[in-house]
Amino acid sequence: MPHKKIALFDLDGTLANYEAALRRDQIPLMSPGEEFPPSLHEEMPPHWEARVNLIRCKPKWWQKLEILPEGIALLQLARDIGFQINILTKGPSSYATANSWTEKRKWCHCKIAPLAPGYRVTITEDKGDVYGRVLVDDYPKYMDAWLEHRPKGMGIMPAQAWNVGYSHPRVVRYEGSSQLDVARAIFQQAYDR
Ligand SMILES: [Mg+2]
Repeated sequence: MPHKKIALFDLDGTLANYEAALRRDQIPLMSPGEEFPPSLHEEMPPHWEARVNLIRCKPKWWQKLEILPEGIALLQLARDIGFQINILTKGPSSYATANSWTEKRKWCHCKIAPLAPGYRVTITEDKGDVYGRVLVDDYPKYMDAWLEHRPKGMGIMPAQAWNVGYSHPRVVRYEGSSQLDVARAIFQQAYDR
């Protein structure tokens, strides 16, 4: 039985605007003159990590994330080429934010189901385990983990501040609608291989 032609789409930073919501909700918790740490993704001072978890465990926080239109345009492109659309998102391992697993599923039901009927969702702690022909993901560490086990896999990385300078021979960094044709060519290549 041949594999289906699957395109994998990350949520946070690709289809859902996690970063903007996190920054917005940090502001009331910051002391006057306090600045954001260099990254809200990598190592953070412990008090920042505690605040991030405080925000992320608020009921419906994940469910209310806004869409990222650039990522949605990529999903529509893959859908129109004929890919099975599968969402591939990391479930935070902290028990304090276990609500995210349910809310991510609900987010998909509201935002993705109308665009890609028949879509599937994988919430995992290791994206490298999951099959697909192409992965759309903003985060270098997850892209690399996935590519490592997929010698023919292709990647599209929506441009974000935290992936500036990323480069891999099988990944295109997608900077917006002016590169839609480049993205279409990658999807088509992955579909036809
Ligand atoms: Mg992401």
